[in-house]
Amino acid sequence: TDTIRANMIDGLAAQKHFPLCMLTMQRKLKTDHVAKYTARRQYGLFLKGIGMGVEDALVYWRSNFAPRIADDKFDKEYRYNIRYLYGLEGSRRNQRPFNCIQIINGDQPRDREESHGCPYKYLAPQALEEKLQSMGITDKQSLSEIRSYNESSLYHLSCTKVYELTHPNDKTVYSERIMTPQAYFQRSWNHAK
Ligand code: SF4
Repeated sequence: TDTIRANMIDGLAAQKHFPLCMLTMQRKLKTDHVAKYTARRQYGLFLKGIGMGVEDALVYWRSNFAPRIADDKFDKEYRYNIRYLYGLEGSRRNQRPFNCIQIINGDQPRDREESHGCPYKYLAPQALEEKLQSMGITDKQSLSEIRSYNESSLYHLSCTKVYELTHPNDKTVYSERIMTPQAYFQRSWNHAK
């Protein structure tokens, strides 16, 4: 795994390296400076999983929480939790990033403040379609294919389809569907290198 630095994240997201779940949390954090408990775990462990070290994680979270969360509050309430994700606090257990099944079967956002979960599962069809259109996916056939995957609860197939549509030059044949957000990133990142 390459080392992912704090100042690379917004660029990586803009370059379509993040699956929709992580993109949603990245945007919420950057725009509203908000990441609730489950989002902090899902997104924080994803960042760790793609190669961000703990020092960069602290820099990244601190700067994205600002100005809503001041430095002293960050140190008191969030520093520990981020170090915990890296197995450096508390039980010092190595925390593994969540896979798609865990995210899909876990709880989904209950309000607009929450940004965790799998958007292919929790977004209403119309809202998802608008989001996909804003990502440049506009052809009716692709949109209806994604809609029918979602109707059959095959969210990871929707995600794989979106990967293919947003990476038209990646001709690599993969034997597996997207099963972790990290795999989505790794495919995209390897392809761009
Ligand atoms: Fe994220 Fe997996 Fe859902 Fe894709 S299928 S948006 S990687 S949880």
